[in-house]
Amino acid sequence: MSEQKNAYMYGLGVLKTLGLAFRHFLETYLDDLRHLGKRYRTSEGISYRSSKDVSGIFTIQYPEEKLPVPEEFRFIPFLIYEEKEGKVEYRCTSCGICAKVCPPQCIWIVRSSDPNTGRPIPDPEEFYIDIDICMNCGFCSEYCPFDAIKMDHNYELATYDRKSNVYDKAKLGRPLTYYASVRPINYEREETARREAEEQRAARKAHA
Ligand code: SF4
Ligand code: SF4
Repeated sequence: MSEQKNAYMYGLGVLKTLGLAFRHFLETYLDDLRHLGKRYRTSEGISYRSSKDVSGIFTIQYPEEKLPVPEEFRFIPFLIYEEKEGKVEYRCTSCGICAKVCPPQCIWIVRSSDPNTGRPIPDPEEFYIDIDICMNCGFCSEYCPFDAIKMDHNYELATYDRKSNVYDKAKLGRPLTYYASVRPINYEREETARREAEEQRAARKAHA
């Protein structure tokens, strides 16, 4: 008798689950009809399908559609440069801190030196990151004292060629405007801190 009861309960559970899946399946099409196809391939549609109000089964039609990533999303790092008087200036001073803190040791830096004096110049001659080894931890960016290296949002980096995944300085470089566009809150916070520090320096100088 108890075996019969168990089988009955088990069968009921299976039917309930199937019924729920079928309801979600129908809701998918009803939701499509309610929105007249506008929930696909539009940013409003993607945002609606990512919300708690959505009903039915849904998915993101990648690669035609992509989920927006939050500002703190991080993939591989990039190096910031600024264009000053027609010249490209990387913020990196080749101090080497990022290479030291990088857990899988995938950063290589070649420092430049003055050809006349042999003294080091705060500008890397070469800068490499093996993006196959990078574990996207963001330590390099966290520890860089010059806001020179930041984490990118671009995750579509698949290639057929293993060698092309060792990124050099040119491939890692991005203008400051790019950083401001992908991480606007971070950019604004750092620029404000920079401005305040400069004002304090100027005020100290004026009182000296
Ligand atoms: S990216 Fe930053 S931490 Fe790394 S070498 Fe350049 S200045 Fe130093
Ligand atoms: S994100 Fe982490 S693993 Fe990747 S280069 Fe920076 S420190 Fe190294």
